[in-house]
Amino acid sequence: MPILLNPNREKSLLRRHPWIFASAVKQVDANPASGSTVDLLDANGHFLARASYSPLSQIRARVWTFVDEPVDEDFLRKRIHAACKLRDTQSVIRDTNAYRLIHAESDGLPGLVVDRYDNVLVLQSTTAGSEFWKETIADILVEETGIQNIYERSDVDVRELEGLKPITGILRGAIPNPQLRITEHELFFQVNIATGHKTGFYLDQRENRQRVGELAKDRDVLNCFCYTGGFSIHALANGAKSVLSVDSSADALALLEENIVLNRVRVPAERHTALEGDVFQLLRKFRDENRSFDMIILDPPKFAPTAAHAEKASRAYKDINLLAFKLLRHGGILATFSCSGGVDAALFQKIVASAALDAGTEATIIEHLSQGGDHPVSLHFPEGAYLKGLVCVKG
Ligand code: SAH
Repeated sequence: MPILLNPNREKSLLRRHPWIFASAVKQVDANPASGSTVDLLDANGHFLARASYSPLSQIRARVWTFVDEPVDEDFLRKRIHAACKLRDTQSVIRDTNAYRLIHAESDGLPGLVVDRYDNVLVLQSTTAGSEFWKETIADILVEETGIQNIYERSDVDVRELEGLKPITGILRGAIPNPQLRITEHELFFQVNIATGHKTGFYLDQRENRQRVGELAKDRDVLNCFCYTGGFSIHALANGAKSVLSVDSSADALALLEENIVLNRVRVPAERHTALEGDVFQLLRKFRDENRSFDMIILDPPKFAPTAAHAEKASRAYKDINLLAFKLLRHGGILATFSCSGGVDAALFQKIVASAALDAGTEATIIEHLSQGGDHPVSLHFPEGAYLKGLVCVKG
């Protein structure tokens, strides 16, 4: 079914960006069903792309293909096969049995996230298009990966914008226990795929946990927003002198304690302390108590989902980074992250720089970090590059 665009609104498609906003649409013929496949035509009626239709969303259509080819089971199989192959052959997956298999737009499959946790796949469908094809996609995933068990975690807020209700539960196979054990760089983690954040674990930080862990040797570490202890356990396994882990979620901290026990061969539990609380308040309390650390990790939740939230988010990032600079000893390391799509790498670096300035400290960046290779970024979809991290040394 054809959708005619307004004059000059084909430009982003010619650059191969996969989104068409409602304002670009001139005319929709025959009221296509939510998630069904439509042809996007320029103002002169020339074919531009084939896309899924989202009648309720501001992002009215998401491109499946820029080629005049059928969008069907074979098409989806090709895309899913390519995504699996990318993980298999580019050595993006090292030392783990948990990684992202499909990263939505960046793998040419808008709205679809699939994470592998050992012998279970966790699928998240966020758009009308991915929802339309969900059952077919589930069958193809079983065929392509040989993994029989799929759990659905389609419970993210953005589904509302597409008129979709939250759905969770077993989609294929049998999953007797939603708490699974995964391995990451020879360390073990309990992941609850039913109740954990995202699909259960912050897979995008895998390489950064290892790198920051190495830098933690012989240091007193404060891990803020620790979740189930990813950075803490890597730091302890790499010889950190002490680690204080802070999170506001009691459930996350309970799993963290399990993870400490799980890694007892390499992780000395007596060097670790967990604290439930609000990082914004605790950093102030530590400042007032004149406490100090050799390393501070800041990995907060998404403060700015879109650019519209950037200003408020910038203030929050500046606040915690400024306090962290104050709490760091001379020569101390700040590993600071932002996963906000609305704050790009350049803005994030500016925020951290102004935090250092206001804290009255010198600091040098020794490393720029980003998401692992299992979260690839299409060159035509820069929004896919959402995770940025800076490793700074306080001068
Ligand atoms: N670094 C973690 C992921 C952190 S996700 C890892 O590698 O696995 C962000 C975490 O921040 C979540 O666990 C959430 O519970 C916690 N959080 C959110 N707001 C908070 C606040 N104000 N104070 C403390 N923790 C908070």
